[in-house]
Amino acid sequence: MGSVPEEMALGFGDLVGDLREVYESGRTRDLEWRQSQLRGLVRLLEEKEEDIFDVLREDLGKHRGESFRDEVGVLKKSIVDKLQNFKNWAAPEKAHTPLVAFPATAFVVPEPLGVVLIFSCWNLPIGLVLEPLSGALAAGNAVVVKPSELAPSTSAFLAANLPKYLDPKAVKVVEGGADVGERLMEHRWDKVLFTGSSRVGRMIMTKAAKHLTPVALELGSKCPCIVDWLDSNRDSQVAVNRIIGAKWSTCSGQACIAIDYVLVEEEYAPILIEMLKTTLKKFFTKPEYMSRILNEKHLKRLSDLLADRRVAASVVHGGHFNPKTLTIEPTLLLNPPLDSDIMTEEIFGPLLPIITVKKIEDSITFLKSKPKPLAIYAFTRNEKLKNRIIEETSSGSVTFNDAIVQYGLDSIPFGGVGHSGFGQYHGKYSFEMFSHKKAVLKRSFLIEFMFRYPPWDETKIGM
Ligand code: NAD
Repeated sequence: MGSVPEEMALGFGDLVGDLREVYESGRTRDLEWRQSQLRGLVRLLEEKEEDIFDVLREDLGKHRGESFRDEVGVLKKSIVDKLQNFKNWAAPEKAHTPLVAFPATAFVVPEPLGVVLIFSCWNLPIGLVLEPLSGALAAGNAVVVKPSELAPSTSAFLAANLPKYLDPKAVKVVEGGADVGERLMEHRWDKVLFTGSSRVGRMIMTKAAKHLTPVALELGSKCPCIVDWLDSNRDSQVAVNRIIGAKWSTCSGQACIAIDYVLVEEEYAPILIEMLKTTLKKFFTKPEYMSRILNEKHLKRLSDLLADRRVAASVVHGGHFNPKTLTIEPTLLLNPPLDSDIMTEEIFGPLLPIITVKKIEDSITFLKSKPKPLAIYAFTRNEKLKNRIIEETSSGSVTFNDAIVQYGLDSIPFGGVGHSGFGQYHGKYSFEMFSHKKAVLKRSFLIEFMFRYPPWDETKIGM
């Protein structure tokens, strides 16, 4: 893989032209080539594991335990799964042919799209590059990846190390920020996968329209978590553990599918808050067990969410910010006003509003009044409630009795709906994201029905 320094990124015409030439040569379509690229990615994860832990610590203060769980471990499993299955996914699939077409055979033939571009975000800066990249390579494309400039150590790591493990002629890393991204979008791509904010997502889509480039947008949202009354202490404790895992131990809540807020019945709220406080103390015995906030700008954005006096008054735990270490204490808020920024904007940080409802079923009405999120979570044993959530609400995914773990499953698609984006990937869906399903029909010269041609008469219409 070739790395392109920012100063050389002024014009990308040559880069795109070279990649198109490589793609047209058929090199990336070859199944052995695809396999060697996937193997290269697995080797990278194995041989450079410690370096990956180092850069994630530098960029985000991520603990190696978290980095292994959310980046290296998840990725390795996913890429090995692609290695084992991509030849089957790439094989033509026989389709049904109706009698009227007899004799004929029909197939769906997955073909690569061509030269594709992947923009990634800073919060999972390895996974959000390598998961889509592995899908694009398994599908036989030439690829440009643009890591986030806000995770500079990881971006530099990818630019320096990927060339050693992948085909530098067919895959390029372009480092840089918004200006580089804009210049990349001047060109025609066969697909753009963008992970990031809705604001930039809109710009990407507008620019892509000029070339009729298809896009997939992986955006953010406010992911709600319904917590129903749980009868046993054990169930409640499991729920609390998992809520904490999905909020504070996943990049300090800086994750698109982190729990944004909790919905709970009034009477259960004090119990839940007490259990959260106790378990937070138990889990975070050392400061380094929580990632830090990306930078001062994001720390300020988060502290501004608490600047509203009504919101500050709702803090029931934590609330302490440390600008020197860029850390924020795990913070619980009880019923901040629903019109405040903390309840209208994506939080993307370690602040957790708890909103009470009279009856847990009211949470469904609440969710239906909001834009469709990337994920909905619910902790409950109530099957009726589960079915109502599945049938009456819309979201990228629904997970019951856990949170975030759906990200690690290769068997289900990952992506948003409505305001949280569109286009799905992970596992086979990453392959499909970068493939075109070509319809192929093979007819025979054998039988010829003349009723399909003029001259028309009433007997033909009745056929
Ligand atoms: P962003 O939108 O500012 O940047 C994302 C990428 O776009 C980066 O690579 C950046 O360099 C590039 N970029 C920025 N401006 C550009 C422009 N004008 N033209 C072209 N490229 C440009 O990212 P952010 O705001 O820091 O990201 C946070 C958001 O991303 C949150 O809303 C979060 O929920 C979302 N997110 C979504 C997912 C998902 O999988 N759905 C994953 C992670 C983050």
